[in-house]
Amino acid sequence: KLHNEVQEAKGNIRVFCRCRPLSKAETSVGCSTVVDFNASKDGELGILGVGNSKKTFKFDRVYTPKDDQVDVFADASPMVISVLDGFNVCIFAYGQTGTGKTFTMEGTEDNRGVNYRTLEELFNMAEERKETFRYHISVSVLEVYNEQIRDLLATSPSSKKLEIKQAPEGSHHIPGIVEAKVKNIKEVWNVLQAGSSARAVGSNNVNEHSSRSHCMLCIMVKSKNLMNGECTKSKLWLVDLAGSERLAKTDVQGDRLKEAQNINRSLSALGDVISALANKSNHIPYRNSKLTHLLQDSLGGDSKTLMFVQISPSDQDSSETLSSLNFATRVR
Ligand code: ADP
Ligand code: MG
Repeated sequence: KLHNEVQEAKGNIRVFCRCRPLSKAETSVGCSTVVDFNASKDGELGILGVGNSKKTFKFDRVYTPKDDQVDVFADASPMVISVLDGFNVCIFAYGQTGTGKTFTMEGTEDNRGVNYRTLEELFNMAEERKETFRYHISVSVLEVYNEQIRDLLATSPSSKKLEIKQAPEGSHHIPGIVEAKVKNIKEVWNVLQAGSSARAVGSNNVNEHSSRSHCMLCIMVKSKNLMNGECTKSKLWLVDLAGSERLAKTDVQGDRLKEAQNINRSLSALGDVISALANKSNHIPYRNSKLTHLLQDSLGGDSKTLMFVQISPSDQDSSETLSSLNFATRVR
């Protein structure tokens, strides 16, 4: 329980910055690093500009290219545990395509990311608490593309449009979406695999498609206290956002233009919501995008939010990096 009190004291929104290593391709063409990690222990990150001018940004935490998946999850896990205590939680990865959003959230088979580690932690904690609590865990996997929701666990394509409904007690749900019950971590891996392979269906370039849609994993937890019979329901959203990069002017036409506008709109809507929450504003504009509308009951109130702002160290990406760092400043 202690971690919750600590978090409350510091507010419910955390912003972490993670910088990936320079890739081999970047090193081979002579890219240099423009990010300065000297003060990263204090959550500070510097970025070098023209003529070695330096701008600094402050985060709750900075991960350098040397920090691995275990280091990253160590800071996310207290949030994860609060889901078992009945809090709603959202964890996002934001950033330009190629900066490691999917690496942080999904990870790879032998270097698993936040999604898998989260579920593993939930099952471990549930086991530890089994004398006092009974937990039921289920998972939905969906994608938001061009302001439309697609159920990635649906076995047959549905002709009906998926819409968000609000229950009388205020919680949001999507009637008809698959909620896969999972009993152990083995079942989870299969569900996550099914979700990511469904993402590829119908797109000729999987990576391109996934960088233009938001991939959202929702973990629903129902708990019963065996001592007093008290029941709670909570959810944890794990979101791999669409790439935040601006399109080259020559690229902006037709379908790409529409995609780009939808991505822009939803990412700025997310920024608006989080900054309104951080500023304790009276009006929180959840309804401006499918993304924020979906997350309405899990952003704000006593919910906890964690944003990973992913960046590239390369001089070639410095203007996109600056724009991501500025976005992060808005929401912090
Ligand atoms: P995004 O989802 O933001 O487009 P990816 O997660 O696909 O980016 O990452 C792009 C590439 O960089 C991948 O090959 C990935 O394995 C690698 N990468 C990203 N972050 C790291 C990291 N922290 N350490 C090592 N490799 C990384
Ligand atoms: Mg990705």
